Amino acid sequence: MQNLLTLTIIVEPDRQRLARFAMDAVEALGGNVFASANMLEGLLRRLREDGVQAKLPVEVNLQLDEQSLYLAWGERQEALAKLAQPPSADAIKAIATRLKNASESTDSILLKRRNEQIIADLESAKQRARAEMEELETLLEMKKNELNKSILAAQTDALTGLYNRSGYDTRLREAFLRCKHQGEPLCLILLDLDKFKEVNDTHGHQYGDEYLKRMANAIRTSVREHVDHPCRMGGDEFAVILYSDLATAQRVASKILGLMENKVSIGIAQMQENESTESLVGRADAVLYEAKHLGRGRFVSDKNKELTAKAI
Ligand code: GH3
Ligand code: MG
Repeated sequence: MQNLLTLTIIVEPDRQRLARFAMDAVEALGGNVFASANMLEGLLRRLREDGVQAKLPVEVNLQLDEQSLYLAWGERQEALAKLAQPPSADAIKAIATRLKNASESTDSILLKRRNEQIIADLESAKQRARAEMEELETLLEMKKNELNKSILAAQTDALTGLYNRSGYDTRLREAFLRCKHQGEPLCLILLDLDKFKEVNDTHGHQYGDEYLKRMANAIRTSVREHVDHPCRMGGDEFAVILYSDLATAQRVASKILGLMENKVSIGIAQMQENESTESLVGRADAVLYEAKHLGRGRFVSDKNKELTAKAI
């Protein structure tokens, strides 16, 4: 099998040129021009379909063996003409040279159309890439949301919907850094239900769970939504990370005491300059212990250890 000519087919005039060269070869090799012209029509149609499907330029070869002339592209090899006799090597060489020269001569209209086609192809590739990029960005945004949701779920207490211990740790670290950096006040309020074991023992665990939810709601309604952070540390222990000063924290504690009929003990500490989180937590914990020790149902704040009366 010998190759007479290779042409890259991009636009319609390329196909017309191919037809011209193919018929030239059929004639020069002594094939049946009329039969080949008929056959060529079908082949060009198939070639166009393959080109549209592949969305790419198609490379076509005009090939020759002892008996036939073929058009070949992709996986296809289609006979175009039967030869009366095997062509001589000289004849083949002469035809190949002529076709080569003819195909290499420039055709300005063809070049212009080819350029336009290439620009159009690039533009549509750019649009496809942009659409794919937008799709990927949407996907990424969805994944980010899913991730945020699962982080939130991992930091939420299932019973009360407040932050759990892990959420408390994260929020406290954040709050500490933010308030230190911006010189804003921060208070930590620790709360522990009084004699909660008795509630469980008297009314059962399920009632105890409802009681914990009631406590969670009392805290939630006493602080600013989306600003302060109410948390359940575990069991009947709660905490509030409050972006306010001691006076506000005391008002919040008072309100919670009122809503819980003074059945909770509360310790309050305000972050001091150059203090560590451990120290702040330690001080709040110490005054909570003091509140228990002093008879429960009250809050004690660390600042000047002032003792406050039960909520009115
Ligand atoms: P105190 O005034 O000294 O705090 O007494 P207390 O009875 O509240 O003692 P403590 O705080 O040590 O008891 C906490 C109890 O909370 C013990 C446990 O049975 C109960 N508890 C812990 N988690 C849950 C829960 O998820 N549901 C219920 N119903 N009870 C819980
Ligand atoms: Mg308790």
